[in-house]
Amino acid sequence: MSTLAVYPGSFDPLTNGHVDIISRGARLFDRIIVAMLVNAEKQPLFTTQERVDICRAVFKGQPNVEIDTFDGLLVDYVARRGANVIVRGLRAISDFEYEFQMALMNRRLDGGIETIFMMPAEQYTYISSRLIKEVFSLGGRVDGLVPELVEARLRDKVLARGK
Ligand code: ADP
Repeated sequence: MSTLAVYPGSFDPLTNGHVDIISRGARLFDRIIVAMLVNAEKQPLFTTQERVDICRAVFKGQPNVEIDTFDGLLVDYVARRGANVIVRGLRAISDFEYEFQMALMNRRLDGGIETIFMMPAEQYTYISSRLIKEVFSLGGRVDGLVPELVEARLRDKVLARGK
């Protein structure tokens, strides 16, 4: 049986924490689908298409990493794709409560899907997309915390705003 995993999230923007989890997933499962939630936040910094393009560019050499979008119930999307695993990343205890609730709710909604949690390398455990956006917009450095392409796109956004 081949294992197809779905890694859902907003990825606004993709960070090295996400990249770490996706790379681990790509080694563990036959195929991993990075599924971007459409309209997750009312005002995402990057459009869905921009987030997809960034992710595709970063993983272009890896044939078992697929980038897709979804809206509505995650378990419906997972079932529609014929996947059997949901991957989530755990950074700290603070992630645990929400993730635990989501995993059990998703199990109730579809008992055939298993949620698997993975921890990133410790240097990425404190990174969140929200913190990256906040620090960058205030002029702080984020190199080493996000892919170089993301840094460049963040710069474009800030310049565009300044116009
Ligand atoms: P959401 O908006 O659903 O929190 P994110 O795009 O922020 O989506 O994150 C998607 C998943 O990746 C979540 O499981 C989140 O806990 C995990 N994640 C986010 N940042 C990191 C990180 N630095 N290390 C490991 N996992 C992370």
